[in-house]
Amino acid sequence: MVASHSKCRVCKGPAVIDLPRHNAKFCAHHFLELCRRQVVKAIDGFGMLRRDDRILVAVSGGKDSLAAWDLLVELGYQADGLYVGLGIGDYSDVSGQYATAFAAERGLTLHTVDLRQEYGYDIPTAARATRRVPCSACGASKRHLFDRAALDGGYTVLVTGHNLDDEAAVLFGNTLRWDVPYLARQLPVLAARHGFPKKVKPLCRLTERETAAWCVVRGIDYLVEECPMAAGNRHLAYKAALNAIEEQSPGTKASFYLNFIERMAPLLAGERAEGDDLHPCQRCGAPTTGEICAFCRVVEKSAAHEPVSVEVLLGRKGRVA
Ligand code: SF4
Ligand code: ZN
Ligand code: ZN
Repeated sequence: MVASHSKCRVCKGPAVIDLPRHNAKFCAHHFLELCRRQVVKAIDGFGMLRRDDRILVAVSGGKDSLAAWDLLVELGYQADGLYVGLGIGDYSDVSGQYATAFAAERGLTLHTVDLRQEYGYDIPTAARATRRVPCSACGASKRHLFDRAALDGGYTVLVTGHNLDDEAAVLFGNTLRWDVPYLARQLPVLAARHGFPKKVKPLCRLTERETAAWCVVRGIDYLVEECPMAAGNRHLAYKAALNAIEEQSPGTKASFYLNFIERMAPLLAGERAEGDDLHPCQRCGAPTTGEICAFCRVVEKSAAHEPVSVEVLLGRKGRVA
């Protein structure tokens, strides 16, 4: 936010935010306008949504997913939410409360799935049981449950709240490794295919700071704390590196990601696996390249494991051992 004597570029009223990448400051009203324009540009420019789509938003209780849900409803789309209780101690308890309160205050439909109650495990236990970083079991669980809920619920598209910072950080990681298959699939829209729902990222033109400011200006309460399992996560290091560059040269992050989508991604079309080697998981029927899908493998190992709390998993170091 900015000093009160700064003026909005559009109306010259008092500015509430300075956006160096746009080389301008904005009042609350024109900041919201700018965010809406960026989201509409993403939706229309990438063919993300149709007016008659039935949308399911993956809701975490954080700023991005609540901003995405709020923006879509405000823009006149019909969108329900799905919250997955991951069992990550207080973080999950509080994030669930924010998601529930957001939906209740606006009369929106929020579906919930609780990993411990419905599948017999939680993420700290899964991390220990699978001997992988927590985000690995967490990502596999969320992907599976969101996909499944979208398909079973008759939704035509699944929305996630990934913002420009998230996408640029993933792109940065994939580029550092020249991971061509991942680069080829790093698009803000993935069409429905082989038992997967259509997936879109309407916030891909908004930065993390902008989605946070959207929530503040719109009076949306969200969970500010990061997930305790995120410490040491490579994405955070990539974000920090990009932020350091952005500080020196505003707009670089946006051009890195958006020019990739516009100029580079089309050149990688031939590298995009079409999923011919996918077939139904023997346990749950979800598409997979093996016999048993990643989710069922996590369930198999974790549900039989004695429960492990966040504190025990993180130990005294506060990060995953
Ligand atoms: Fe899951 Fe990792 Fe995100 Fe925490 S940081 S919610 S463990 S993916
Ligand atoms: Zn203004
Ligand atoms: Zn399965």
